[in-house]
Amino acid sequence: MNDVLTLTGLVKIYKKGQPGEIRVLDGLDLNVRSGEAVALVAPSGAGKSTLLHIAGLLDQPDAGEVAVSGRAATGLDDRARTGLRRQDIGFVYQFHHLLPEFTALENIVLPQLANGVSDAAARKRAIDLLETVGLGPRADHRPAALSGGEQQRVAFCRALANGPGLLLADEPTGNLDPDTSEQVFGALMTLVREAGLAALVATHNPELAARMDRTVRLSQGRLEG
Ligand code: ADP
Repeated sequence: MNDVLTLTGLVKIYKKGQPGEIRVLDGLDLNVRSGEAVALVAPSGAGKSTLLHIAGLLDQPDAGEVAVSGRAATGLDDRARTGLRRQDIGFVYQFHHLLPEFTALENIVLPQLANGVSDAAARKRAIDLLETVGLGPRADHRPAALSGGEQQRVAFCRALANGPGLLLADEPTGNLDPDTSEQVFGALMTLVREAGLAALVATHNPELAARMDRTVRLSQGRLEG
């Protein structure tokens, strides 16, 4: 299978050259292939958010390379980097960040329209995604009328609206009770398997981590495992 995310020799330093310089990433390497879900486990403050931001092309490393779907992001200008991010990377956070004034369906349609997809095609894809996660009947509900787990499943659908190859998730079930977390995790794995996605999922939950294809641990700026 192909590598969708390739991180090579990443270095990230905060307060560079100042007293108290923090070397958060220190020569970190990671490959995530299509169809593979990788659990990212890190104690708080270890640099998990920094790593996800750099992998998601929201921040740049001080050294090292990021490639997404075979395209090197290093050296791209802002516009090209934003294009690659929109096209090829989906994000899910601990809190869903759905737009409250729009329905579940519209929340999944909007990023597609912004990407030049026709309204009819965008709606069809949104319905297909909602049905995949068991939310077809909820398509016309606004976020406030959905449970926390349902909101998060819609957030997954939105992240996948433009058919990215890479899904980055930061504690996607961190805010949910165990039963709901189980449902949401099941939906995540269904989407990863059906779309052949590469997924990097930060989690504090060892049971969920164990059910992904492998676990990597962030420590001292590098990954083990
Ligand atoms: P995690 O997500 O694992 O909790 P972060 O990536 O947020 O870790 O942060 C890793 C370390 O880098 C922490 O010590 C944090 O205080 C520091 N840090 C994060 N962002 C900045 C920043 N913009 N400026 C200075 N230090 C930062």
